[in-house]
Amino acid sequence: MDYQGLVEEVYEQIQKENPRGKVATYIPELANVDPDQFGIALVDLEGNVYGVGDYQKPFSIQSISKVLTLTMVFHVFKSKLWSRVNVEPSGNPFNSIAQLEYEKGIPRNPFINAGALVITDALCSKFDNPTQRVSDFINELAGRNCVSVNKDVKQSEMDHAERNTALAYFLKAYGNFENKVEDVLEVYFHHCAMEMSCEDLAKSFSFLANDGYSIFAKRGIESESHARRINALMLTCGFYDESGEFAFRVGLPGKSGVGGGVAAVLPHKFSICVWSPELNEKGNSVKSIKALELLTDKLKFSLF
Ligand code: GLN
Repeated sequence: MDYQGLVEEVYEQIQKENPRGKVATYIPELANVDPDQFGIALVDLEGNVYGVGDYQKPFSIQSISKVLTLTMVFHVFKSKLWSRVNVEPSGNPFNSIAQLEYEKGIPRNPFINAGALVITDALCSKFDNPTQRVSDFINELAGRNCVSVNKDVKQSEMDHAERNTALAYFLKAYGNFENKVEDVLEVYFHHCAMEMSCEDLAKSFSFLANDGYSIFAKRGIESESHARRINALMLTCGFYDESGEFAFRVGLPGKSGVGGGVAAVLPHKFSICVWSPELNEKGNSVKSIKALELLTDKLKFSLF
């Protein structure tokens, strides 16, 4: 398969169509990014990288980090984790609080903010120095020290933390939050403020395409059964209230972030990351989703 030709063809076609959205505006650091940036990196299971555009430029990974914190926590707590967070699509925006009351403090899934806060809380219960542990883990997955944390993004997130703080206290009111709210939020914003390139993110997600074994870390990261379950969660919940649409249009397990990145995998074939900052009204990157749709159309192959 000529993956380099494929990603270049997709890149050219999307640039020509030039579908637009709006960059995230809830913090100035994201509102001020150059909206025309666009990159694609595909990594096969031999570790070859096929890239085009801004694929080596670091960007704010935001909620894509939630897959990797979930991986750390799932590995430790195993199926016990599912007593604290469910595995159902939410059909609601990523920062919604309403459902949490109906479901008595058990978030719908680990990728909406409420669920991700429970995951970060579990991470804080288990590890000393959790911020360092998350960075070390992701560097290991990428096979090199590539993770940097944008301190301005982290600070801005903390200055605009009303909603996430409310979610955390709500979880605490239901007894589903073990640590101090401010401590957990700091770790949560730390991992959301990480910057990585498409190439490094695609490498970090490679173990999910490879039955849990990372060729970059050179070790098994997760069991094959856990890797399958993380992929199932990405397929059903990775795009918030647009998860069904992504499965319909693209057909790959994937995860988006409000920085405009999307990381996805085709199990037993490759991992891929696409980045372009302009988002649709659901908070997912317009060009990144379109690019992945075109890619699986051209491949004539998806999970299905
Ligand atoms: N830092 C953002 C938040 O918690 C992440 C949201 C996202 O990428 N969807 O609101």
